[in-house]
Amino acid sequence: MPRSPRLDHIVSPHLRNLVRLAHSHDFDRVQEQVRQLRGCTQPVNLHSWSVTIDHATKEVVRSYHSEDEPSGRLLTACGNRRSSRCPACSRVYAADTYHLIKAGLAGGKNVADTVRSHPRAFVTLTAPSFGPVHNNPSRACACGTHHADDDPALGTPLTPATYDYTGAVLWNAHARQLWARFTLYLRRALAAHLGMTQKALNASLRVSFAKVAEYQKRGLAHYHAVIRFDGPEGHTSPPPAWATFEALRAAVGTAVERTRLTVTSKAVGEREIAWGTRFKADPITALGDGELTDAKVAGYVAKYATKSAEDTGTVDRTLRCRRCSGLGCLSGSTHLRTECDTCDGTGQAESITALPVRHHVRQMIRTAWDLGHLPEFAHLNLWKWAHMLGFRGHFSTKSRAYSTTLGALRDVRRAWRQAQADASRARRGQPTADPTTLVTNSAWTYLATGYRPGEEFLAAQTRQDIADERRARAEGLVPA
Ligand SMILES: [Zn+2]
Ligand SMILES: [Zn+2]
Ligand SMILES: [Zn+2]
Repeated sequence: MPRSPRLDHIVSPHLRNLVRLAHSHDFDRVQEQVRQLRGCTQPVNLHSWSVTIDHATKEVVRSYHSEDEPSGRLLTACGNRRSSRCPACSRVYAADTYHLIKAGLAGGKNVADTVRSHPRAFVTLTAPSFGPVHNNPSRACACGTHHADDDPALGTPLTPATYDYTGAVLWNAHARQLWARFTLYLRRALAAHLGMTQKALNASLRVSFAKVAEYQKRGLAHYHAVIRFDGPEGHTSPPPAWATFEALRAAVGTAVERTRLTVTSKAVGEREIAWGTRFKADPITALGDGELTDAKVAGYVAKYATKSAEDTGTVDRTLRCRRCSGLGCLSGSTHLRTECDTCDGTGQAESITALPVRHHVRQMIRTAWDLGHLPEFAHLNLWKWAHMLGFRGHFSTKSRAYSTTLGALRDVRRAWRQAQADASRARRGQPTADPTTLVTNSAWTYLATGYRPGEEFLAAQTRQDIADERRARAEGLVPA
């Protein structure tokens, strides 16, 4: 083992740490660990062990202890979907989402190739208006100015004082439910359009969905969805001839019109949650120029799936004080309640007034926070989701019949890594075992998040390498 050099002359602590790592007994492994994270910005540090035993021979086939790592810990990628949090992991997520959507449109990954000939639509559903907003970068806005594409005024109310913030936040908070109801109404509308009973329709047609949420500039979520018709056996069977794209488009229109939720509250009265009248339903084609092809739609969905509300200019973290869960006080053993000293009784992890956001976004956040005080909206968890302008939960979902799952794609990657490890064992003359008789035991404990300063350098290098590789592929210098 090489001796640690004197490093006092190196001013940067990061560089000093890197030099120290380079002199550690297993620098190759340090580099390999960081490389495997593919540039993840916030890796999870674990203490872990796992032992795989072949039940037939009682032989230990594989064993791993994070103590054996040069740094004594295992680093795993954070796996975050959002590009604002971790660009590297978000790219992996986007690639997986792309394959998932593409398989549902064109086959592959255990989906029949014949789905290409089924009617498939790319549908966009939006929120209704809650007051006029600055709009139309191409034409003159109602305020009399031509807004540039990047004008921060776009999407903000013309008259904030009369804009229906309560309606907008409640819409976001119910968008998920509205979507769920829409899928029911769509089947009902289809049956009505085709002059069939619901039962007869369900017996011969399956409708599958994959959807993703995106934010508009005005701070309202909207949905993009892939809808596909299948026969009664699912993707392997062709849909009946009467289940055409035209029938689908007509049913989407009816379902958009009819889907409604009613929210009643003493404080805000009775509110109807419905879709905006503007919706789109376009056919997806297998091939073609300038049209919605399988690949193009999969690309759109993958891109939306890695975004969160950040395009609206909001913050990407919850504003609810973790200590008191937004209540502003801690309930003690007596009847006296003590003010939470983490948030000074505001319930907010960061003061909403001081957030670096536009007025419109702050109003959305403030409205969500205020509505969060009403017991009738407790189930909407508005304190937790105020930074999302009221919208909560899943950004992308799909029905079970649509295609493969993200979990399945991750399993494929894991199996591939395992196969590589087995191949390397075989090369070193070590036996590879029969996978059917293997039993694995493992445990892990969370230690921390992030890199040591020197590893951060290596991660930056990995990111650079990946970017170079991608550029070379895009320029056709290396095969894709
Ligand atoms: Zn990551
Ligand atoms: Zn304007
Ligand atoms: Zn608190």
